Amino acid sequence: MRISKLRLSGFKSFVEPATLHIEPGLTGVVGPNGCGKSNLLEAIRWVMGENSPKSMRSGGMEDVIFAGTQSRPQRDFAEVVLQGANDDGDEMEVVRRIERGAGSAYRLNGSDVRAKDVALIFADAATGAHSPALVSQGKIAQVIAAKPTERRQMLEEAAGIAGLHVRRRDAESKLRQTETNLERLEDIMAGLD
Ligand code: ATP
Repeated sequence: MRISKLRLSGFKSFVEPATLHIEPGLTGVVGPNGCGKSNLLEAIRWVMGENSPKSMRSGGMEDVIFAGTQSRPQRDFAEVVLQGANDDGDEMEVVRRIERGAGSAYRLNGSDVRAKDVALIFADAATGAHSPALVSQGKIAQVIAAKPTERRQMLEEAAGIAGLHVRRRDAESKLRQTETNLERLEDIMAGLD
């Protein structure tokens, strides 16, 4: 998939709404230490469904909301909008918003969706919050030291089949539920004889 635009509002150090247009080709982000370069990569992972505060360098998920400075009050929400297109050229817009005390909500092309739906879309597009394509600091060393099973996960993600595993787990869980229901039905029918 191709990301064409990123809009951040109240996310970490991006207190004012900021829009980044990502042109085709290589994009470099430069700036002094602490100016928010890593926060940008984290915004991409977050809108894709990242749910581990630790991998966002946060104590809790609400810590991604602008925490305020001596001269500026804290914000009550953070929002990241990602616009792009999948390999078929279909345009999409994904929005994740978190409000203090209310948790996260997602929208896909204007409609409310679940976190799982968003994760599946990115998995099918061979990317996602845990994609090795998003290389954060320390990640290279982690890839080199990865166990074979972890390497296999990376290859599966790159091949775009990670979403199939999620669907398989869902189908297996529905199958188990149906088997339980059938057993219950048989018990009831036996009671009626
Ligand atoms: P380096 O080059 O040192 O790796 P960087 O450009 O990648 O730095 P980041 O790590 O992205 O910078 O940004 C860190 C800055 O973001 C710090 O100044 C930190 O105070 C600020 N920051 C992080 N979370 C929040 C928050 N919730 N509210 C306000 N500011 C925040």
